[in-house]
Amino acid sequence: MTGDATATGALPDGGERSEEPAQRTAIRQLEHAADLLEVDPNIVERLKHPAHVHEVHVPVVRDDGSLSVYTGYRVQHDSVRGPYKGGLRYHPGVTREECVGLSMWMTWKCAVMDLPFGGAKGGVVVDPKDLSRTERERLTRRFTEEIRDAIGPNKDIPAPDMGTDAQTMAWLMDAYSMQQGETLPGVVTGKPPVVGGSEGREEAPGRSVAIVTREACKHYGYPLEGTTVAVQGFGSVGANAARLLDDWGATVVAISDVNGAAYDPVGIPIHEIPSHDEEPEAVTRYAETHAEGTVTNAELLELDVDVLIPAAVGNVLTGANADDVRATMVVEGANGPTTSAADAILAERDVPVVPDILANAGGVTVSYFEWLQDINRRSWSLERVHRELESEMTAAWEAVEAVVEERGVTWRDAAYVVALDRVGRAHEARGIWP
Ligand code: GLU
Repeated sequence: MTGDATATGALPDGGERSEEPAQRTAIRQLEHAADLLEVDPNIVERLKHPAHVHEVHVPVVRDDGSLSVYTGYRVQHDSVRGPYKGGLRYHPGVTREECVGLSMWMTWKCAVMDLPFGGAKGGVVVDPKDLSRTERERLTRRFTEEIRDAIGPNKDIPAPDMGTDAQTMAWLMDAYSMQQGETLPGVVTGKPPVVGGSEGREEAPGRSVAIVTREACKHYGYPLEGTTVAVQGFGSVGANAARLLDDWGATVVAISDVNGAAYDPVGIPIHEIPSHDEEPEAVTRYAETHAEGTVTNAELLELDVDVLIPAAVGNVLTGANADDVRATMVVEGANGPTTSAADAILAERDVPVVPDILANAGGVTVSYFEWLQDINRRSWSLERVHRELESEMTAAWEAVEAVVEERGVTWRDAAYVVALDRVGRAHEARGIWP
């Protein structure tokens, strides 16, 4: 394993990619939040850099006997409040910069939820659809071995993210435990319940998006009954959010997956459509046979709805389309769907954007519940998970809402103020050593 800390502070060259790298967005957001708070500038400077960036090259014997080598990362941003925590993604677009940005967002996400964790993120540059199940297993086990010294139940706890799932986490837990010589379920969260996973973990990010949408509608005086919602991305986050919002009386009028979107102004029978993970063709089949018509993913973002939930990938709301967003509010289901340019335009237009670090934080919150269950070797009922998630989400919502009301700032700035204040005070108390 090669571990190294970034110390130069140089921003990556954004010219390589057409979109804004997550690292750049995350640093801009941090600088912006720091201007709103009395926080020691030395602490802000330190928080612009991840503590460690582990880059590994993972050899995998393919089913046909040939060898492929995949590049993987584990970025650990900050651990002042507890072990590093964050997902692990398998995606061809994974880059070092993306992992750094996403690891910073995990620091704020855990802090805004007041969880005793810091922030991390990892990924492997691979399209998991190009691998067989056994190849994915070999990749996961060898990647785990490459980062084994860096992770652990009290050190850094990975979790599912794009392209990884409960099975991936079970392989990771097994590989780690076999090498350590003891079963250590707390090394990873998002596992199947049969090996120490938590009930309700898989639906948790979508559930928190729905809870936060409900609270945002309450804040702005929209009854959920009659509120129209467009959801981009019908994977785990989007589908679970859409189903709950439908249960609570909202009308989901548009959904999409990577192949296209379905739009029906009278509402889509959301419970009848399998999620993209359950059945990859389901959304397009529904669009072709039932809905008013197909729209593109780009058009979905510009529909005239009350709530727009981008729950697919990052960088979908940009300087190029933010002026055309007609939704009354945006609730971020994905991590980093709004670039800094889009954020500024939406703020200028008074379109509230409830940020990812609050809206989809149900995932890491139930990861925390899972970690507690693993440490105590005692599982919780689904009812208890739902009850405790509801109470954690409403507490975080109220903390952020109080800053919005007191200071008249955007929801993202308010969430950052809450998070940075907690992280900053912890750094102040601990100091720099040696
Ligand atoms: N990947 C999820 C996220 O971005 C969950 C992370 C975790 O549970 O540690 O929030």
